[in-house]
Amino acid sequence: MAGRHPDPAAKSAVALVACPDYDETRVLAALRRGVDLLGGIQGFAGSGDRLLLKPNILVGALPQKHVTTHPAVLRAMGLLLQETGARVRFGDSPGFGNAIAAAARAGLAEVAAAIGMEQADLATPGQVSFNEALIAKQLVLSRAALEADGIISLAKMKTHGFMRITGAVKNQFGCVPGIRKGEYHVKMPRAEHFAAMLVDINRYLRSRLYVLDGIVAMEGNGPGSGTPRRMNVLLLSSDPVALDAVFCRLVHLPVAFVPTMKPGAESGLGTWNDDEIEVRGDEISALACPDFKVVRRPAVEFDRSFPYYLKKWITPRPFIDPALCRQCGVCTEVCPLEPKAVRPLPGRPGTTPAYDYARCIRCYCCQEMCPHGAIAIRRPLLSRLIHR
Ligand code: SF4
Ligand code: SF4
Repeated sequence: MAGRHPDPAAKSAVALVACPDYDETRVLAALRRGVDLLGGIQGFAGSGDRLLLKPNILVGALPQKHVTTHPAVLRAMGLLLQETGARVRFGDSPGFGNAIAAAARAGLAEVAAAIGMEQADLATPGQVSFNEALIAKQLVLSRAALEADGIISLAKMKTHGFMRITGAVKNQFGCVPGIRKGEYHVKMPRAEHFAAMLVDINRYLRSRLYVLDGIVAMEGNGPGSGTPRRMNVLLLSSDPVALDAVFCRLVHLPVAFVPTMKPGAESGLGTWNDDEIEVRGDEISALACPDFKVVRRPAVEFDRSFPYYLKKWITPRPFIDPALCRQCGVCTEVCPLEPKAVRPLPGRPGTTPAYDYARCIRCYCCQEMCPHGAIAIRRPLLSRLIHR
């Protein structure tokens, strides 16, 4: 597949637009400005185009939790696209639970209905072959994503235990239907392989535009249980690697710690190199948050052959705080392994689950999806000694 830069001298443009809050009028004005900085909405949509808006609906969480793309961002982008005469739907496939209920709880269904935008069903799978893939030559993706004329990605600026950040590139993993996501984790437990698969999904789907909602981001124990952090920024680009690289610059995170950067650049999906990125709009230094709480270390890699004693002592592992656990069983349900690596002890159903760290592949799906913020990722002592 061709890279995004047939002209090697061309730079990837990233629009960086300040926006102080989620007031609908201000968000619409900020997004319009961002799109204009990239050449205008006509460059991304045309009359009659069947477009899919892909927000991040990790789980059905209230907007004020800042787990999901904010409804004001979905509304504004929907209105901008509708101005072109495009037919726009929105949808995501959450990692757990019912997509319609999740979109309603996140406040997305209501704003979409108000502007005449239907919710697409992303649960129906379609299988595609991708010979140019880095790693995932067979992909199972949502039919709605495959059949759209174009996708506009509406990602949320958050931390992520496995990939360090979830921004533009990671957001498209939601185009894998529901529990199929777990199969990818099992097949690709190494961060570098998983990152290459994410890049493959982005290369195959070729979204027209990526928007990153960072007006209020999430730091710390993201992507589901972190702390909201006001960043007052929206980022837009047709290059998801460049957009994530600007996210890194905003929070002073070295791009080398984000596993999607290297395969993203090498495959031609985009660039993380500052010399190849043109930031347009507001000053990055005025909006930077150097103390943003994100893991500032490379991912510790291991696979199943990795000796258990090393895995146990080096790899950060999920940990349940019994005081916060409500014994809901979501972590057991989303664990992609069979038998599960986190579950109540035998003979004690309905109790706080326990980990089998010898089997756990450290995908952190349990931490990501715990609805009560009871799971954190802890570094074993040896890991802390190696990377201070
Ligand atoms: S998902 Fe969270 S609250 Fe639910 S059982 Fe697991 S640790 Fe406890
Ligand atoms: S226990 Fe958690 S981190 Fe371990 S494999 Fe299961 S979901 Fe992944």
